[in-house]
Amino acid sequence: MERKLAKLEQIAFEFNVSTKLLIRRDLELSRANEKLQKFDEIKSNFISVVAHQLRTPLSGIKWTLSMLINGDMGVLNDTQKTFLMKSYESNARMIALVNDMLIADGIQSEKVHYVSTYLNIIDLMDSVFFEMSSQALKRNISIRYKNKFENLPQVYVDPVTIRAVLQNLLENAIKYIIDNGVIEIDVKKENNYLVISIADNGIGIPKDQHKDIFLKFFRASNAIKQQTDGSGLGLYIAKNIVEKNGGTIWFDSILGKGSTFYFTIPLSENHLKDDDSWTNSTKSEGGEYVESTSSHSRV
Ligand code: ADP
Repeated sequence: MERKLAKLEQIAFEFNVSTKLLIRRDLELSRANEKLQKFDEIKSNFISVVAHQLRTPLSGIKWTLSMLINGDMGVLNDTQKTFLMKSYESNARMIALVNDMLIADGIQSEKVHYVSTYLNIIDLMDSVFFEMSSQALKRNISIRYKNKFENLPQVYVDPVTIRAVLQNLLENAIKYIIDNGVIEIDVKKENNYLVISIADNGIGIPKDQHKDIFLKFFRASNAIKQQTDGSGLGLYIAKNIVEKNGGTIWFDSILGKGSTFYFTIPLSENHLKDDDSWTNSTKSEGGEYVESTSSHSRV
């Protein structure tokens, strides 16, 4: 009996010691977690300050270059124009990168605001495709709709962010087509959603890298070889935006043959995620999207 009692006391003692140890570990972990959160906040602030500081001079360079190119400061010869055009394009890429960094940071720290509204997706698509048509034309790429899409029901989404998704997918399709490509856009109604697809006959994505394609900063090996220009942020941003708008995004791709990116958007506000970052509205004035109403490629 005495031995059993001693044993029990021993167990109780060890239990007590373990409990104290656990409490201490828990405290240490909480402190480490707090520190990590602080570091994350500092990193986020750092990105935000640097990106904002870069935006102003980059925009200044953009406007100066475009004035020069347009001949506002005197007529230029062709060689001068070509050099300036190259600088203009490099500057535009930097602006796009800075914007993507700001948006990705906004997504991570949940600073992106969405304002949903009823709209006709074809109107939005038309305006995005019109904007990108000269880019496509330059590369001899034709963009076409698969159907006429008459009588499509309205969707309930944030036009500013969905516009950014369309821009990103179309930009990628143009970027990853080598020559003489075709981009085909389709829209279908499935249950309470519209499914939008953008198909290209570009370089495709290696099968073993499909799983990583929506990860932040990920670029497939063939894309890196083919196109040095790219941050790997566009699809990470697109996935977050589509999901916040109540949809999903995915793709099919065959290496060397092409890729099709699909995303869904809800037809009714019932399908919106119950999320604090949403402001439901029937106005169609667009939403605030991090610091600007721009997307992937504009300041
Ligand atoms: P990036 O700036 O590199 O284009 P994204 O996040 O938009 O970044 O895309 C991530 C990666 O997904 C790309 O680097 C590329 O490997 C692949 N990818 C995206 N769209 C396409 C496409 N239409 N065709 C082939 N590869 C694509």
